This record gives sequence, C-alpha cells and structure tokens, in this order.
Amino acid sequence: MYLIADGRRSPFHIVTGQNAHEAVRFAASELQKYIYESTGACVPFFSDRCPRRSPEIMVGIDARDAKERISMEGVGPEGFRIKTDNEDLIIAGTTPRGTLYGVYTFLENFVGFRCFTSDAEKVDRMPRLELPEIDMVENPAFEYREVYFRDAFDGGFAAKNKLNSNMADLSNMRGGKMKFYNFHHSFHDLISADEYFDSHPEYFSLVNGKRRKEGTQLCLTNPDVFELSLAKVREWIEENPDCTVFSVAQNDYSTPCECENCRAVDEREGSHSGTIINFVNKIAENIEKDYPHVLLHTFAYRYSKVAPRNIKPHKNVIVRLCNIECSWEKPLAELAAQSPEGEAAGFLKNLKEWARICQHLYIWDYAVNFSNYLQPFPNLYSMAENLKLYKAYNVKGVLQQGNFSHGGKGALDELKSYVMARLLWNPERDVNREIDDFLAGYYGKSSDCMKAYITLLHESVGDIPLKIYDSPASEIFSEPVLEKADRLLEAAIEAAEDEAVKRRIEKERLAITYVHLARMEMDHPQRNELIDAFAEQVKSFRITEIMERTNLDLSFEIMKRSRYCLDRTGRYSLYYIMR
Ligand SMILES: [Zn+2]
Repeated sequence: MYLIADGRRSPFHIVTGQNAHEAVRFAASELQKYIYESTGACVPFFSDRCPRRSPEIMVGIDARDAKERISMEGVGPEGFRIKTDNEDLIIAGTTPRGTLYGVYTFLENFVGFRCFTSDAEKVDRMPRLELPEIDMVENPAFEYREVYFRDAFDGGFAAKNKLNSNMADLSNMRGGKMKFYNFHHSFHDLISADEYFDSHPEYFSLVNGKRRKEGTQLCLTNPDVFELSLAKVREWIEENPDCTVFSVAQNDYSTPCECENCRAVDEREGSHSGTIINFVNKIAENIEKDYPHVLLHTFAYRYSKVAPRNIKPHKNVIVRLCNIECSWEKPLAELAAQSPEGEAAGFLKNLKEWARICQHLYIWDYAVNFSNYLQPFPNLYSMAENLKLYKAYNVKGVLQQGNFSHGGKGALDELKSYVMARLLWNPERDVNREIDDFLAGYYGKSSDCMKAYITLLHESVGDIPLKIYDSPASEIFSEPVLEKADRLLEAAIEAAEDEAVKRRIEKERLAITYVHLARMEMDHPQRNELIDAFAEQVKSFRITEIMERTNLDLSFEIMKRSRYCLDRTGRYSLYYIMR
C-alpha cells in the first residue's frame, strides 16, 4: 500500500521534469491542490533539478527517469498511464494534455474529485489516503469531444472533464484543444458572392437555370473556384498556425450547383457529396505535404448527407455527418429497426457508408430543443446509446449541440453537459451512475426529487416523437405530467440545503413554467401578467436566449401573442455567428 497522506502529513513529493510543459506543471499543481483539499496534507512540489526525495509522485513522462521505468505502449496522444513503481507513483501521458487528464483521472478515482459545472465541483474528505498497487492505461473513445453548451466552454470544466472542444477556453496551460479555423459553413468565406458574383457569376450555384448570388453555394467543378479556394485555404493556414482544422464546408442553404459538370459528378456519385468530396480532396491532397498536421473539415449535411458511391475522402479530411432530421425519443438503432423507411434508418445507412470510406468521421449531434431552449428535451438515455453506436461505427469525433448563446442555461443543461462529457471520454460508462453522481453532488438533499423529476420526463416521452423543433404543444407535456413535474420541483426546492441549490432548482423550474405558460389558453385573464413575471425570472438567471437566434424580449412577445409559441415572425436573426 502507498500512504499518500495521513493526518495532514505526507511522506510524498510531487516532481516534474525541469523543462516540463506548462500544462504538466499545471497538472502537478492541480494534483497538489486537490490532495490538499481532500486530505489537508500539502505535498511539496518541485522540479527534478532537485535531488530525488523518495517516495515521489512523478508527473509527466519527462520527470526524472519515468521514461525508463514505464512503457507508454498503447497510450495514445491524449491517453495516459498511472502506475505505482517501487515506492513511487508515476502519472504520465505521451503529451502534456494526456498528463493533465491522467492527474484528473487519478483524482477522480482516489479522492472522489468531480467537476459538475464551471462553478460546482467536489472532492471527498479523506484524512487518510492510501493507495493500492495501480497500473492503468486510458485513452479517449473519440479523438474530438465537444459539448457545445455555453457553460461547457469554461476552460476549467472542459479540461477537468477531458473535453478538447474547439469552443472551450482551453489555454496551453490547460493542455490546449483541437482548434478549428472557421468552424462551420465556409464557402462564403472562401469566395464571397459580394466580391465576385457580378464579374464571375459562373463561380456560384446554377439553380433552376440561373446563377445565384443570394443563398448560394460554389460551383465546385469550376477550375478558378478551385484555385481561389486553394489560395485562400493556404492563406488561412499560414495566418493561423495554432489551428489544426480548417473548414471547407457548404453554406447553410440547400442550393447545390446544377451545372452540367457538377451534375455529371453528382450523378456518377449518387449524391451531392460527390462534388463536395471531390473538391475538398483536391485541396487536401495539395496541402498535405506542406502541412502534415492539418485536417480539412467538411459537412455531410442535408443535401450532402448521402456518401459518394466511388470516391473516398482523402486521409486528411474530416467529414462531419449531421443528424438534424432525426428524433430522440429512443436510440437511433431502435428507431431504425422500428421503421426501416424512417429518418433514423436513413441516418444509420448514411453513417455506415461514411464509416466505410472515411478515416475521420465526426458526428454533429443535437441535444436540446432549439425552438424552445427551456422546453424539456429528455434525451439522456437515447444520447448515451447513440454514442455507443457511433463508437461501434468507428466515429472519431462528436459534437453535442445545445444552448450555446451567451447566457446559456436551457432545460437540464448542467446535467447534460456533465453526462455527455463523461460519456464522450468513455461511452461504456453507466449513464445512470453518471446521472446519480451529478444529482448527488449538484443538488445534495434534493437529489431524490430531482431524480424522480428526470425519470418522469423521460418516461413521459414513451413513443411520442422527440424532435429538436417540437412546440410546447407536444403530447409529452400533458397536464398531469406538468403538474407532477412541478410538484416534484417544489418538493426539491423545499428540501434544498442552501440558497445556491435552491436557485439551481428554481432555474430548472423555468422549464415547466415555460411549457405551462405556452400551453395556456389565450383568453386566460392572467396570461400576460404571468408571462411578464416569468420574463423577470428568466432575466434573473442572466439567460439571454430562450429561442434560438431570437432576441429575448421578442421571445416573450411571441409567448404573449401565440399559443404554443408558434408565431415565427421576427425569429432567427440573420446576423448570427456561431462562436
Ligand atoms: Zn457547377
């Protein structure tokens, strides 16, 4: 056994390499900090320039003779090994980020460390900390893990939960991240219609016999379009040396070019992805020698979701397949089996095809209701199963999109962000255990009521479709369900042990209030008054959006003038950038 701490004393010393990367030094300081919080013992921390003072916790593969003492075989670029060796303990990744993840995993396993949100974490109090013999290796299930929810962008939350999200505030100290340049639709940045259309309409989509300036795509078989795009991509790479992924991806309109040359390629390939992959491949092949670390990213989205028949994405191309048309009441595989002609079956077919031809297949997944961020979207169990499915099909990266607006905070956002991060690292984890862990840590004495609330929501879905633009009229939210949900939340508030927990549950209660108000008869005498009070509450939580891309005050107006918030007037700001 290894006695790390006993009665505020520790015989151990933490040591890093003399020239350790800042993320490794940070990892060592995090280890020191949380061991102290758990045990009360301050383990001294120094570099290996100092003489050996056994027993030691060596952090990073460059610490002293760690490299000679443990093999890193089977440890990937973000993985780590934790091993007791003679009287010492070694925590090391093959990269600084891997070492940092190793430290957080050590803390999770041995002092009960958990980071639930950007401002809620815990360690267990352990006056005596003793370790058994340890030898473990972990690698992430997915090379890219992004929880696209506002709170998950916090660098501390992301690093502690091992997300390498493009959007997260992950400095080098926190191990850095998978940084994209131009994360989304990018054809308009490659060649702008404002700049080129008037002189060169042939660069843009031919739709119904006419070249389009507005809501357009590029004519991907035009040789000048290729040359201009290649030059632009090279310029982006040169100007953004810290980015490793560059997007060459269709705009967000369904207007692929129908010119003779484009049509020939797409007909031969059986999909509009034909011209896209052909085009992206040519750029990818051209840059690979000069920039072997760079990946190009494109979408398989709406009109391009079906994989091409003959060509394959080049080895440095990421294809991000989106499942926007799907449904979340059940896992995708189950829905596909139930209805072989449905969206889920179609998605599964596309997934299989892309998986067969693509080395970096990523999924863009959806995890909330986008028309109504506060409306419950009980997808936790289907999401968990879907991640296992993606892994089985050799998917390499997953983004889970939620309410990423500045104020964040949709229905169950905190719980979802945490559980998704945990499952993106390892989808084999037991989702119920992750949920229970979160509830106990985040809601304390109210956790039983919150579990009952979450179970009620998920059970109320049954066979009713759960889609990302459902209105509050959905049959999921029958009056008895809303009433019961509200009672459970009221009981949870009563059980809350302090003001902070109470506020967390009050925020969650906005979900039920929102659906209740949206379903209220228009001639209810207090309708407007209640919506005004609700608006005040929403603002007290600094929420900035309750409907995607819609001004907050306009959203309350929509609530007032339209039952079920079905009025679309004024919704969806065009000037909206996803960052
Ligand atoms: Zn064309």
